Amino acid sequence: MTSNYSPIVLPELSVLAAEQRDARLRTLKADEEARETARQALEERERTAAERGAQEMVETVFPGTLARVVSLEMWRGYPSLTRTFVNAVPPSAVAYLGGNTYLHYAELESGDWVMTLHQPCTACGARVEHRLWDDIELGACLASDDNPQLCGARSCERRSAA
Ligand SMILES: [Zn+2]
Repeated sequence: MTSNYSPIVLPELSVLAAEQRDARLRTLKADEEARETARQALEERERTAAERGAQEMVETVFPGTLARVVSLEMWRGYPSLTRTFVNAVPPSAVAYLGGNTYLHYAELESGDWVMTLHQPCTACGARVEHRLWDDIELGACLASDDNPQLCGARSCERRSAA
């Protein structure tokens, strides 16, 4: 006994359907590869722009101090994270100055820039951040024996008072 509802499949049609499916998959793959290539190119442009922007800022705003020790090759750029995270993170660049001290640069969407000095707490070694506006600010926040930079933790305050 045969069912009245058994489908009739013509071989020519299934071959055609398979070819269409394969063509669609090839198109999807090509689109995905094109998007990946474009993403990598954008990230590279953001990295390079951040490194150049950071060095330009160093030479413009800190000509007598940071510009004497920081060169373009010292910067390592990072792309923005706006496409993969909810909170937008702008392109940035970091330069290592030695002594566990880093310079961080970020360029905001508004066009403003942020230069931050990250150095170890004089007492405990935890990271202390200072936003840098100019050479005067830089001089005030550089850690030294005469100018200890503390992270503000209670344990550090007790240690430095002792
Ligand atoms: Zn500390």
